[in-house]
Amino acid sequence: MPILIEKLEYAYSGGAESTPALAGIDLAIGDGEFVGIIGPTGSGKSTLVQHLNGLLRPDRGRVLVDGVDLADRHADLRAIRQKVGLVFQYPEHQLFEETVLEDVAFGPRNLAIPPDIVQERVVRALITVGLDPAEIGPRSPFALSGGQMRRVALAGVLAMEPQVLVLDEPAAGLDPRGRRDILGHIQRLRAERGITVVLVSHNMEEVARLTDRLVVLNAGRVVLEGPTREVFGQSDLLRQNGLGVPSITRLAAELRRRGMKVPADVVTVEEAAGAILRLWSSPSGQARAHA
Ligand code: ADP
Ligand code: MG
Repeated sequence: MPILIEKLEYAYSGGAESTPALAGIDLAIGDGEFVGIIGPTGSGKSTLVQHLNGLLRPDRGRVLVDGVDLADRHADLRAIRQKVGLVFQYPEHQLFEETVLEDVAFGPRNLAIPPDIVQERVVRALITVGLDPAEIGPRSPFALSGGQMRRVALAGVLAMEPQVLVLDEPAAGLDPRGRRDILGHIQRLRAERGITVVLVSHNMEEVARLTDRLVVLNAGRVVLEGPTREVFGQSDLLRQNGLGVPSITRLAAELRRRGMKVPADVVTVEEAAGAILRLWSSPSGQARAHA
C-alpha cells in the first residue's frame, strides 16, 4: 500500500488563500514503513494526514494510495478508508455508541461484513489494545478513563483491519502510563503485522524511539526529511523550525564536546546507556571519562 503525494496544496475555505495550510508537499511512504511527521503547531500535520484517506481533497496536486488517485471521481473512497485507518487527534470525542462493543463494531459493520466476523474482529481489536472484551465490552465508553477511551477509539480503527495506520498525536494529553501503553500497542502492531504506520507527534523522544523516517513540516512545506537518526543530527535546522532533538541526543552532544567518545547519532536513552557502558568497560574510554 504505497502512498505517493505530489505537489499537494490545500487551503481551508475561509482561511487566507495567501497562507495555505499545505503549500506544495511531495512525499512517498513505502510499504511497511514507520514514518513520523513532526512540525510546530499549525504547520499542517493534521491537514496533511487527512488527505491520506480522502477526507480532505487537494486544491492542487494529487494523492495516490496503492496507485489510486483519491481525487478521481471513480475512486472507491470507501475501500480506501478501509485500507487507510485514520485515528484523529483526541479520537475519544468521536465515541458515541452505548457500549464499547457497539462502538468498535461500528466501522466493520458499515463495511457490510457478516456479523460473526465483525464480532471476531471487535474482540481481536480490543485484545490488541489491551482491553478485556468481556469486562470492558459491555460498558459505556464514556465511563472509562482517558487512556481507555483512547484505546477504544484505536480499536475501532483496528477492527477495520487497515493496511496503513495513520495516527494524529495518539498519546497527546495522556498521563505517562497511558502514553506508554498506547505507543506500546502501536509498536507491537507494527512488529507483528508489518502494517505501515504514519505517526504525527510533537514528542521527539516518542518519534526517536518508534520511527524509521521523519518528515518535518513548517508552514505547509516539508523542510527536512530523512532517516530519524539523520534528521536528529540536524539540531540547528530543527531549532530554526521551532523544534528540538530528544534530550538524550543533546546530552550525548555535550558529552562529546567534553571529549567522551559517545556516538554522534544517539537518539534513545537505551542507546546512550549502551554506548556509555561500552566506553566505561574499555580502558581508553575509562581514562577519557576520568580525565
Ligand atoms: P498542525 O496539525 O500541524 O497543528 P493543522 O493542519 O491543524 O496544523 O493546521 C494548518 C493550518 O491550517 C493552520 O494555520 C491552522 O490554523 C489552519 N487550519 C486548520 N484547521 C482549520 C480549519 N478547520 N479551518 C480553517 N483553518 C484551519
Ligand atoms: Mg494537528
